Amino acid sequence: MSAPLPATELPAPALSAASPAAPALPANPASDPCVHCGFCLPSCASYRVLGTEMDSPRGRIHLLKAIEAGELELDATVAGHFDSCLGCLACVTACPSGVRYDELIEATRPKLNAPELRSPGQRRFRQLLFALLPYPRRLRALLTPLRPYAGTPLQRLARSSGLTRLLGPGLEAMERLLPPLAPEAFTDDSPLVVPAQGERRHRVGLVLGCVQRLFDPEVNRAAIEVLSANGIEVVIPPAQNCCGAVTHHQGELEQTRQLAGDLIIAFDAVIGPGKPAGSEPLDAVLVAASGCGHTLKAYDRLLANEPAWAARGSAFAARVEDIQEFLERVGLSKEAMARLQPLRHGDGTPASAERPLRLAYHDACHMLHGQGISEQPRALLRRIPHVQLREATEAGVCCGSAGIYNLVQPTEAAELGRLKAQDLSGTGADLAVSANIGCTLQIRQHMEGTGRAIEVLHPIQLLARSLAGS
Ligand code: SF4
Ligand code: SF4
Repeated sequence: MSAPLPATELPAPALSAASPAAPALPANPASDPCVHCGFCLPSCASYRVLGTEMDSPRGRIHLLKAIEAGELELDATVAGHFDSCLGCLACVTACPSGVRYDELIEATRPKLNAPELRSPGQRRFRQLLFALLPYPRRLRALLTPLRPYAGTPLQRLARSSGLTRLLGPGLEAMERLLPPLAPEAFTDDSPLVVPAQGERRHRVGLVLGCVQRLFDPEVNRAAIEVLSANGIEVVIPPAQNCCGAVTHHQGELEQTRQLAGDLIIAFDAVIGPGKPAGSEPLDAVLVAASGCGHTLKAYDRLLANEPAWAARGSAFAARVEDIQEFLERVGLSKEAMARLQPLRHGDGTPASAERPLRLAYHDACHMLHGQGISEQPRALLRRIPHVQLREATEAGVCCGSAGIYNLVQPTEAAELGRLKAQDLSGTGADLAVSANIGCTLQIRQHMEGTGRAIEVLHPIQLLARSLAGS
């Protein structure tokens, strides 16, 4: 195991707005080893729904090479073929030639944000999203008046009557994702330190995520309960905003670096000599949303060109783990294992050997393709008594959420959401399981249309319920 995260006493220099972020990406797509075999096409979500070569990885690599050679101009039409990419990275997993499409698209995204490549309406909508989503306080201010509406018969009536269509495609897509809003979504009242139950085995930090803490606060609560029950002390810095995933995946690198710096400062503000969470270092920084985890693990690259921040970004990134990755690495404690109870079916009957609870685990793209995590969540779920895993037929294909993709490309995203919900429901499972808030909201939204809607929960929620015997 690597050394614990040192409690840093470094000052907090301002991030330079002028210096470019450092994706450390291949500058020259022409040198990429794509042999045009097309093996990546069946796994490509955008090719799946659009069916055009230029909306596939192979087609986009061809476009990049043509731009690089000066044979093609990056105009609005060409940019549209890159905007249709979900950034799901399934093509990277599928490619037998080792083409790093992830690096190519990450280097391309910032160029797509040139004002002339999008309409004024598209630009304004994106600006709204980037001014809102990464900042929980702003999002809460917007959502507060919607509390009597979200998840109520009023919302169902507005949708079924077609009233929400008057909002226009972008805002209508936002409304469609709006879940019931729990009261705890509007407070940040987690204790700074949650002690380990029994003998302390580890001490970790927890990143709450911006959208997750508002739209599904039970996930973070379950994460804290599961960690504590396993002898793990949890430090939760209160002044957390977004980790930067929302902007990172859209090539808004300056804002991403600012958000990354702010999050590091939020941790440094509470850990260290004389600070409120004490000077003991953290063994890991955990997160229960895979889109966030993917960006948190990239802080070393994102901050590499900032002399005052490079070391801090690397130290932080080196300690980041998905909560499931961490729990499988360190193992559940004997005490926690002894407490795990069968979960209950919808009719209240506990799962049993004769009637197991069937789960369909959804592989979030930034978990599977972005972080290479697939077995750990399944292994954790199998520790719950009388659970049976069912595999979807297209487990590696994107659900259409992809950060803000389902808001800025709602038509394509809806088609992918329908396919994913149908696939998961079609396994015959009693529950679907998703470890990324974006996917969870997307799949929940489209479950209604499957004819066999099943609940979608985070694996950590199931572990917490099993530990509680509920
Ligand atoms: S990216 Fe890889 S899989 Fe896709 S066409 Fe090129 S070489 Fe083949
Ligand atoms: S990242 Fe996903 S959507 Fe984009 S080209 Fe690769 S497989 Fe297709």
